[in-house]
Order: sequence, then C-alpha cells, then structure tokens
Amino acid sequence: MANSYEITDHTYDVLVVGAGGAGLRATLGMAASGLSTACITKVFPTRSHTVAAQGGMSASLGNMGDDDWRWHMYDTVKGSDWLGDQDAIEYMCREAVPAIVELEHYGVPFSRTDDGKIYQRPFGGMTTHYGEGIAQRTCAAADRTGHAILHTLYQQSLKHNAEFFIEYFALDLLMAEDGTCCGVMAIDLATGKLHRFRGHEVLLATGGYGRTYFSCTSAHTCTGDGNAMALRAGLPLQDMEFVQFHPTGIYGSGCLITEGSRGEGGYLTNANGERFMERYAPNAKDLASRDVVSRSMTMEINEGRGVGAEGDHIHLHLEHLGADVIAERLPGIAESARIFADIDVNKDPIPVLPTVHYNMGGVPTNYHGEVVNLVDGNPDHVVPGLMAIGEAACVSVHGANRLGSNSLLDLIVFGRAAAKRAAELVKADTPHRSLPDHVTDKVLDRFDGIRFAEGDTSTAEIRLDLQKTMQSHAAVFRTGESLTTGMEKVNGLNASFSNVSVADKSMIWNTDLIETLELSNLLPQAVATVASALNREESRGAHARDDFKDRDDEKWMKHSLANVSATGEVRMEYRPVHMTTMSDEVEVFPPKARVY
Ligand SMILES: Cc1cc2nc3c(=O)[nH]c(=O)nc-3n(C[C@H](O)[C@H](O)[C@H](O)COP(=O)(O)OP(=O)(O)OC[C@H]3O[C@@H](n4cnc5c(N)ncnc54)[C@H](O)[C@@H]3O)c2cc1C
Repeated sequence: MANSYEITDHTYDVLVVGAGGAGLRATLGMAASGLSTACITKVFPTRSHTVAAQGGMSASLGNMGDDDWRWHMYDTVKGSDWLGDQDAIEYMCREAVPAIVELEHYGVPFSRTDDGKIYQRPFGGMTTHYGEGIAQRTCAAADRTGHAILHTLYQQSLKHNAEFFIEYFALDLLMAEDGTCCGVMAIDLATGKLHRFRGHEVLLATGGYGRTYFSCTSAHTCTGDGNAMALRAGLPLQDMEFVQFHPTGIYGSGCLITEGSRGEGGYLTNANGERFMERYAPNAKDLASRDVVSRSMTMEINEGRGVGAEGDHIHLHLEHLGADVIAERLPGIAESARIFADIDVNKDPIPVLPTVHYNMGGVPTNYHGEVVNLVDGNPDHVVPGLMAIGEAACVSVHGANRLGSNSLLDLIVFGRAAAKRAAELVKADTPHRSLPDHVTDKVLDRFDGIRFAEGDTSTAEIRLDLQKTMQSHAAVFRTGESLTTGMEKVNGLNASFSNVSVADKSMIWNTDLIETLELSNLLPQAVATVASALNREESRGAHARDDFKDRDDEKWMKHSLANVSATGEVRMEYRPVHMTTMSDEVEVFPPKARVY
C-alpha cells in the first residue's frame, strides 16, 4: 500500500517543523546564515499558537528600575523548584537582553515608556535582589505581544528567503538505522499529496500538547505532534508530569486572562470578598508563582469559599485600575472578558479558574537546541540531525514550573541558539546520504493504518474521554490513587485507538483524518504524563501530590525520561539536573524552601 503513493522530494540544508515564535526565530536565523531553510507548518505561520501570547517576554533590561540577569536567573531557578538546569537558565537569562534588543531592531512594536524605552511590567515570581523586591521585567506590546512577535519574525524570514510549506502536516521523522534524523514526511492538506523533505538538521518547534486536557488555554492545534514523533523515533520525553495550570482561565471557556493583568494591579478574591493570596504568599501575594496561585485558588474552592452559584470559581478584579489603564495596557483582556464572560471589566470582576496552560515537559535538549538522550550511561548524548526548541522541547529552563513571560523568552533565545548551532554543524549545499526505502515505508505504513481504520469508535469520542480523564486524574492536585486509575483509563484509551474509525478516506482537506492523526499523537503523550506523575513520589512545582506533600531533593532532584512504545508500554529512566553554571559570573543557586 505504502509504495503506491506518489511522493514529491525536497532537499534543504535544514528543516524546521513549526512556525510559532520558536520555529520562526530559528527559521530566520538559519536562513540569514546562508543555509537553505524550509519551514513546514500545519497552520499559517501567524496563526500559530504563539499569536495568543498576551503578557510579554522577560529580559532584565532595567528600563523601569534596577535589574540584573542574575536576579532573573535566581527567580527562574526558584520558579522551577530547583528542577531547571542551571547552565541553561544562565544562558537564557543572560542572552535575554541581546535577544530582545535584536527583536526590537527586527521591528517588534513594543509598548514604550514616556522617555521612549521598551515598557516593562511586573509578572509573577519576577523579583529584584534575589527575592527582595518586585521586578518590572516583562517587555510587552500591550497585551498582544505574541501577535507582534510572530508578524515581525515571519516578515524577516521571508526577507531572508526562507521557504514556507504552509498547511503541510508533518507525519513522522525519517530516521536512518544508525539513529540519525534525515528528514520528515508531510502531507499537503490542500492537495492531499505526500512530500518527503530531506535536511541535515531537522528542528522540531511544534509546540505543546495542552489539548490532552478538557479545559485548556491552548489552541486546538496544540497536540504536541513533534513530541509524539520523537517517541515513535524511540526517543524519550522529559518531565512530562509537570503541566502548568494558569490561575486565570475564564470560567466556562478556558480563555486566558494574562498574568499581566495582575502585574498591572489586578487581584483575586473569594466568596467572602477576601484577598486570600495575602494568606498564602504574604510577600508576592497575587504575583506569586503560577503553581502557588493555582493551588491557593483550588484550596479556597475546595474549602467552600469559591464564588458563583456552585461556589466553583474565583473573582479577578480589574475595576479599580481605571478605564485609561485598561484601554492602554489590557485592551485584549477587556475584549475577551466581554466576549467570553459577558463582563465589563471596568464594572465587574471576571470569573476565573485554574486552567491547563503550558507543558514544562517535552523533547530533552541541551542549550544549543540539540536533542539529547540517555545512551550507555551518558545522559547528554546528542541525537544526530535532530533539534527541538520552544514548548515542544525541555531544555530544561522551566523545570517543575515556568514563570510567566519566560516562554516567549525561551522561544527567542533558543530559536536563536539553535540557528547558530545549525550554522556551525551544517555546511551549505552538502549532498544528502541515500535513504533506504523502508525508512519511508515505515512512516507510510503507519499512516495507512490510520487512514484506512475501520473501527467503530469515532475520533471525537476517544479524544473527549482522554481529555476528561486527564482533567480529573492528572489535575492541580494528584494522588497515587487518582493517578493509578488515570493510568488504567489512559492505557485503555490508547489501546482503543486500534478501534478508531476514520469515516472519510480521501486525502484532500480531510479534517477527520488529520484530527485522527493528532489524536494518535495526543495518546502516547498522555500515557507519558500520567506514568511520569505516578512515579514521582514528591510534590515539586506544578506536580502537587496530596500523598507526598513535600519536595524530596534527595530522591527526586532528577529529570524524568518517559519512553512509550508503539503498543503503549512505558519505560521510565532518569537523568541528573545540571547543577552547574556556564561561567564564573554567577554561582549555582543551592536548593532551599520555595516561599513567596
Ligand atoms: C493564551 C496564552 C497566552 C500566553 N501568553 C504568554 C506570554 O505572555 N508570555 C509568555 O512567555 N508565554 C505565554 N504563553 C505561552 C507561549 O505562548 C507558548 O508557550 C509559546 O507560544 C509556544 O510557542 P512555540 O513556538 O513553541 O509553539 P506554537 O506557537 O504552538 O507553534 C507550533 C507550530 O508548530 C506547527 N505544527 C505543530 N504540529 C505540526 C505538524 N504535525 N506539522 C506541521 N506543523 C506543525 C504549528 O503549525 C505551529 O506553527 C501563553 C500561552 C497561552 C495559551
């Protein structure tokens, strides 16, 4: 069956899969360095999920008060609950400053201070003097920062002659027998034609997998396709148990209200009108780290102090900020609240609830963006030809919990780093090695298996069951019991995929087929998430176990590596956290209790 397809071949020096902030920054850098660069994306670049990023991107510019990249590094290490790799965090915080200046020069229209500098707002967990004061570190283009960044990077990539394959869905990596990644297979959604892309480096920038959950702030396209491709290539995913719940998803719709709204002075109250964050985080209050605020809100609701008829959510107040501040700094938020909650933020509080927002876990990499694997006891073995960046990757700069505005930073810094690395590794116009047919056939056999599936369960049914299972069994608070049941259910759903039905067998604009391929990607990631969470018997960052309430540095200061086979068997391994720095300009921050 596989060989009957007509395949169009393409060769490039480098391939980027994904055109969000991460993919575009890498595409731009690679093309600008003279490498022939193809960027393959299932949605139009400026419709990638990054477009939704509201609040901004952190960098210790010091435009609105003292700042230092070491303070930023300390905050990020503390935010990560000491699971982040400190060398990578040092790299990110140090490079943030040149990376954002570069972005500005590319044309990102940042908001300005009165004297013309880039405007910076406070964000959760961002402090000065190693936790003493509140930092104004987050650079914003009003509350549409992701939108501004994507448009600028897309235009710059075109200027440097990067080639875009838009609405092409990448199916799988082409892996040679020696474990080198040699390219990717994709289907052109509009024509249904298959394309084989060859590149000396393939970079995955496919974003997160928020859609494994029922209520999330992520776009419907966030199905973690690159992560699943890595699993199918026999590679592990790292730290998948760490799923961030954002405190302020709009109740009922999940649509995000940026943390920047609390940065501008917004605050949370319970049914008694009490500003409860003062009890949980006496210093940072509403600007404590996201995991802390989400847990505090959940505790308020569980203890009967939630608002609304069912006492199942919390209020976010912006009314006191004034119409001018809202119009200038939070116009998109006012619009979202009106559309999704029928609220005028100048008059009434917004009903909010912790909602799945970000995946700290992903494909393990070093800070050059190269994918690493544990081989013969070496936890930093580089997988030849394969790179990953952005939310798809786990560098790991966010460890057990990401600080707000550090993701856009991660995309830009590591997109830039990966482009530099690719320019070192790849010599332009180097011929490609030949690839035996069975490498392509393997990908197409799997594709055919899904395309011609004749089971009796619809894609939507399995997906809904999966999302509801994840929502209730891998939630803000977890226990061994909830996770064990979750594991059984997720394994069952993974097995039930063999009984999926794809009603439409055509190849042209077949959303049923594409959604089924995406479901086949969501399932093994859910397995990896629940298995990693079940194994980790401690509470750290976003992973809060009711049955193991404390952080256990002795046993668990290590990254989880989950390998999931085609039939759903999980093998867990672990790799050490990097407790080293890159330079002698800063020392390692030793673990301590994490209070805000
Ligand atoms: C509502 C919201 C607001 C946020 N606000 C902020 C913020 O203010 N600051 C901050 O730091 N972070 C923020 N975040 C987080 C941040 O936006 C994301 O983590 C980040 O944008 C992810 O970028 P990415 O480039 O890794 O992936 P994405 O932007 O998700 O892009 C993924 C790309 O991969 C492509 N792709 C995926 N699968 C395939 C496939 N099979 N074939 C071909 N192409 C594929 C897609 O087409 C897309 O181009 C926010 C997140 C949300 C949900």
